[in-house]
Amino acid sequence: MEHFDLTRAQDVASAIAAASAGAAQDAPVRFLAGGTTLVDLMKLNVERPARVIDINRLPLDQVESLPGGGVRIGALVRNADLAHHPLIASAYPVLSQALLSGASAQLRNMATTGGNLLQRTRCVYFRDITSSCNKRTPGSGCAALGGMNRNLAILGTSSHCIATNPSDMNVALTALDATIHIMGEHGQRSVAIDDFFLLPGDTPQRETVLDPGELITHVTLPPPWPDSRSLYLKLRDRASYEFALASAAVVVRQAAGRIVAVRVALGGVGTKPWRARAAEAALQSHAPDAERLRAASEAALAGAQPQSENGFKIELARRCLAHALTQATTGAAA
Ligand code: SF4
Repeated sequence: MEHFDLTRAQDVASAIAAASAGAAQDAPVRFLAGGTTLVDLMKLNVERPARVIDINRLPLDQVESLPGGGVRIGALVRNADLAHHPLIASAYPVLSQALLSGASAQLRNMATTGGNLLQRTRCVYFRDITSSCNKRTPGSGCAALGGMNRNLAILGTSSHCIATNPSDMNVALTALDATIHIMGEHGQRSVAIDDFFLLPGDTPQRETVLDPGELITHVTLPPPWPDSRSLYLKLRDRASYEFALASAAVVVRQAAGRIVAVRVALGGVGTKPWRARAAEAALQSHAPDAERLRAASEAALAGAQPQSENGFKIELARRCLAHALTQATTGAAA
C-alpha cells in the first residue's frame, strides 16, 4: 500500500471541499466509508489514492419515509441495517433479499449503500497489477478476452472490457427504479440508476457518471406498487459468500390474471446492473403462463455475447429469470 493523506470530514460540505481540492490538483481522491472494497484494492495497489477522505461521521445513515410514499436511504446506511429495516423488509423485499444474499454477515455490517453502488468488479485481472487490464490501466489490453472469463459478462460487453458488475444490491435497486442523489462543488443532481452506470465501451475505467470530487449522498425509491410482489433470485457456485453467476430481481403487479406492471433486472451477466426492458415488454398485459415467462426470459438474453468460458450463463440466466417470475406471479414471493 502506498502513502496517502487521510482527512476525516465532519460534514458533507467539508467532504466535498476536500475532494474538490484534490480533484483540482489532479490528485486521485477516494471517499472512505465501510472500506470493504477500497481498502482491499489499496492493499493490492490497484487503488492508489493520494488523498482519502473518511466520510463515516457524515449524517447520512438514516432510512426515512418520504411524504408522498417511497423511501430515502442515506449513503452511509450499512447493508445489514438496510436489509433488516422494517420499511425495506416490508415494502421492498427484493432489496432485503438481494442485500442478504451478498457477501458475509461481517461485510454486510460494514458495507454501505453508497459504497455498494461503487463496488468494483471481481475480474481477477483487474485485481492483479501484473496483468493487462484496460479498466485499471487504460490502453493496456484486456487479459480476460480469451483468458479466465467464466465469471464475466455476456451483456453490455465491449472489445475493451467484459467485466461484470458484482453487486446484488444494485440489481434490486435497478428493478425498483431507484434514483441516485449526488453532491459536488457545483451543487446537487439526481440520476436514475439505469443512467448512473456506464457501459464499458472504449472507456471501461469510467464506470459511473460521477465526476471527480462528487459524493453520493442518498438513494430514493418510488412508492411500491400496490398489491405487487417482488423477489431476488441468485444462482452461484456455493450457497454463501459468493458472487452471482446469474441473478434476477423482479417486481410485478397483476390484475385479472394479467401482468399490469413489471420491472426486471439481471445480475451476474451484465457489465452494469441489467434492466431487461425487452423482458418487461414481453410480459406487459399478458397472462404469466410458462410459455410467456420463457419467452420473456429469452428476450432478456437476446443480445448476449458469450466469451470462451461463460456461454453457460445464457441458459442459466434464462432459467433464473423464468423461475423468479414464476415465483413472483404465483405468490411464492413476498
Ligand atoms: Fe480488465 Fe475488464 Fe478485461 Fe477484466 S474484463 S481484464 S476488468 S479490461
